Amino acid sequence: MGETLIEVKDLELHFKQKSSKLFSFHSDCLKAVDKVSFTIKKGETFGLVGESGSGKSTIGKAILRYYTPTGGEIYYQGTEIGHRKESQMLPYRKKMQSVFQDPYSSLDPSHTIREIICEPMEIHRLYTAAERKEKAEKLIEVVGLKKVDLYKYPHEFSGGQRQRISIARALSVQPEFVVCDEPISALDVSLQAQIIHLLEELQDQYGLTYLFISHQLQVVQKLCDRIGVLYLGSILETSDSAALYKKPLHPYTKMLISSILPPDPTVNALDEIVIESGVQKRTEGGCKFKNRCQSCMERCRHEPPSLKEAEPGHWVACHLYEKSHEITGS
Ligand code: ADP
Ligand code: MG
Repeated sequence: MGETLIEVKDLELHFKQKSSKLFSFHSDCLKAVDKVSFTIKKGETFGLVGESGSGKSTIGKAILRYYTPTGGEIYYQGTEIGHRKESQMLPYRKKMQSVFQDPYSSLDPSHTIREIICEPMEIHRLYTAAERKEKAEKLIEVVGLKKVDLYKYPHEFSGGQRQRISIARALSVQPEFVVCDEPISALDVSLQAQIIHLLEELQDQYGLTYLFISHQLQVVQKLCDRIGVLYLGSILETSDSAALYKKPLHPYTKMLISSILPPDPTVNALDEIVIESGVQKRTEGGCKFKNRCQSCMERCRHEPPSLKEAEPGHWVACHLYEKSHEITGS
């Protein structure tokens, strides 16, 4: 560890939305990702945590260049890739792979597992046909399945097994960096632990770097070296994993950690907030968490807090903390 592999700098992803106003010539824009910055070191796992709609997947997809950022930069080992031409992206498309949440829709049902695992190698024109078959045979065992499974179809496997196949497929081109976007969220708790264990083993074995996306803080705790807490497209707090759990600073992180957030009823409430601040409230400024924050002060309503390093390596965007910090520091 040490060398920076991924650097995301002031990343913005604004989606155009049809205006809700009739006869309006202006289209509103949703700031799905609003000036997000973080770095991921080689061999490290960086966790992005946040509720549904906070922009986690959009960040992952921007790094993978499924989207071109509307602002900011993305660096891969020092090279800016956020705005590179598609024709120059091919080497990075091999270095960066992904594993997504839904193991049912991500595997083509008409292909055998061998074809599915070999496809990325074919796209990148790697190896001979015989070598690809050999690699597939090795990989299927690496992820805990059997060689005979290569000749079956996706519907013959359970969700956990399918996720193992997705992982084998991602690893087939020997990537350096893998975006794991809620890879275990669709699985039973017992299977979740197995897949996490597998991802950890593979990281050690192949020296992989992960961006691990989850809406559950508990899930990322053990796995991640560092964590960024995302809320409506902005990082509210980021630090190494242990410090975040031991001493969360942001009221939102505290809420997440003490599980004050009721699991289900928040979904609707959050959707409202996403729509509100995504389209209108953001222009007013202020802290994005103000509507839900129990410690909200007057200042928070109009002045957006910026991420500040409160303790070495521990960054937080909160006026409350700044204030108490000033008092204790004087
Ligand atoms: P998360 O993965 O944290 O649930 P997403 O990154 O999927 O969040 O979405 C963030 C916000 O951006 C949401 O409000 C979502 O509706 C919106 N969004 C995501 N993708 C698109 C798109 N392709 N076009 C328009 N809006 C989008
Ligand atoms: Mg998502």
